[in-house]
Amino acid sequence: MRTGIATVCLSGTLKEKMQACAIAGFDGIEIFEQDLVTSPLNPEDVRTMAADLGLGLDLYQPFRDFDGVTPDLLKANLRRAEAKFKLMSRLGMDTILVCSNVATATINDDGLRAEQLSELAELAGDHGVKVAYEALAWGKYVNDYEHAYRLVEMVDHPNFGTCLDSFHILSRDWDTAPIEKINADKIFFVQVADAPKLSMDVLSWSRHYRVFPGEGQFELAKFMGHVVRAGYTGPVSLEVFNDVFRQSDVERTAVDAMRSLIWLEEQSAKWLAGNASEGDAAASRRRYPMELATLPKVSEPAGFNFAEVKADDTAQLEKLLGQLGFAFEGRHRTKDVQLWTMGQARVIINEQAAQHAEPAIAALGFDVDSPVIASARAQQLKAPVVARKVQADEEVFQGISAPDSTEIFLCQGSPDGTAAWTHEFGEGPEHPAAGASAVIDHVNLAQPWQHFDEAVLFYTSALALEPQPFAEVPSPSGLVRSQVMQTSDGAVRLVLNLAPVQQAPVQQSPARQARKTYQEHIAFAVDDLVSTARSARDRGLEFLQIPANYYEDLDARFDLEPGFLATLQELNLLYDRDATGEFLHFYTATVGSVFFEMVERRGNYDGYGAPNAPVRHAVQYDLARP
Ligand code: MG
Ligand code: MG
Repeated sequence: MRTGIATVCLSGTLKEKMQACAIAGFDGIEIFEQDLVTSPLNPEDVRTMAADLGLGLDLYQPFRDFDGVTPDLLKANLRRAEAKFKLMSRLGMDTILVCSNVATATINDDGLRAEQLSELAELAGDHGVKVAYEALAWGKYVNDYEHAYRLVEMVDHPNFGTCLDSFHILSRDWDTAPIEKINADKIFFVQVADAPKLSMDVLSWSRHYRVFPGEGQFELAKFMGHVVRAGYTGPVSLEVFNDVFRQSDVERTAVDAMRSLIWLEEQSAKWLAGNASEGDAAASRRRYPMELATLPKVSEPAGFNFAEVKADDTAQLEKLLGQLGFAFEGRHRTKDVQLWTMGQARVIINEQAAQHAEPAIAALGFDVDSPVIASARAQQLKAPVVARKVQADEEVFQGISAPDSTEIFLCQGSPDGTAAWTHEFGEGPEHPAAGASAVIDHVNLAQPWQHFDEAVLFYTSALALEPQPFAEVPSPSGLVRSQVMQTSDGAVRLVLNLAPVQQAPVQQSPARQARKTYQEHIAFAVDDLVSTARSARDRGLEFLQIPANYYEDLDARFDLEPGFLATLQELNLLYDRDATGEFLHFYTATVGSVFFEMVERRGNYDGYGAPNAPVRHAVQYDLARP
């Protein structure tokens, strides 16, 4: 699959954009007119630079408001077009995007439109240019890709074809199956963009909320499957207008973009294999003109292997874990690292390279079938590799770095949930009364605003976690966008929180901004939360104090048995209930940027106590103020 990206997706100057695209590995780019007009580079410079970078200049865009106009306007439009064709020849480009008319069309007549577009095609032919005509979702008269293709057939000119843009098609819910009936020679270009499902006017949706494939909710693998079945072999190019991407680091966004295409290519191959057309059993094995590369296959992780917290001064963390009922399993025999466990929940306290670091979540380990295959996949998806020093007989962890710089380790899972590497830790001193069975239930990571969508794609593509519909949780400093990524059985649950900008300090590096001030947590599930809380209290644990108003409201909503309600209030426990079951939980105080949560899931309760989250945010907000 030939990969491409429109320069409008990225921040920076045309030169910076082109360099970032080359580094990320794109085959070609679309030049967005505005980027050229504002550039000090002349067209010949751009042409040379693209050649030097190994980038194809695949599409010039956009040319707007051409068809369905009065004769006077047509004359002016042809003049305007000719100037662009001449410019393209200086750039060495041969394909231009012409969008269906939005602003100046006054005549709704396909015969006339085809006549005018034929004149354009003829002129383009004289300059060796091909016109890719695209139906904009909000085009005045032409807003449907099948309509655009009918016009292509009417014009019937070798220099006139269509551009299929997934946004314009999927935002209008047009059926994508008829794409297969389009003559592949007449598909001059394909653009892909994903988007969250929003209900708003299509133009604003398109201009601000497009995201890279895998970061939204469109069925892009299906769209691409039909394109491939049509026989198309040209570029598949990202055209993503997004307010965040246009102001975040250009090289990083280009890599995120590339990852989305690599992932889409794999998903499209999968869709084709699983969706043979009716009565065509051989289709699943058929080869199409467009070759689709696949990736090393992974299934979703079986569970958390460990969570790691890094700190210079570990005393507070040790105290908290001990009070919660964790057992100290000793120090690593060669590294400055401690292991604490409760049942199968393993927490590592890492003191290495942690000078002056306040306690913060640094790494997560996941149980996978094959760490080597999972790591190969992640690396092919351009995840940065994390290297850790190991001694000869120690387990080698395959590590990658997540967009928020949390280190992700791919660990060998075992059927009984044990981890071989724990033998590298020596005997610890006397344990506190341990024994409660526990697992890591979920981990909540704060995401810097500029990497939130990137994180969703990262965990979807590299780790096979499934994004759930996102929620917005009110907090005193703004709405916290919360996106759950989880496995189908819920064994791994990762909650990505987009912290309000107000909470980020100014001096820190952008990648760490949200994480330092915005609190993150690790939640452990136990069988009996009330007794866990009692024991923790007896050991002196400092609970997050829940206001009395909360318990009055709880009583009003759930009509709880008075003794049970009193227990909840006495122990600062939070409660939720839905049709599937009940949820009890409590939070510890925060040390550095990390706090812990203990939960008990009753029945099939699958949530996170969402109605209680605003209470936690408000209490923590109060505590964090001087
Ligand atoms: Mg487009
Ligand atoms: Mg939680």
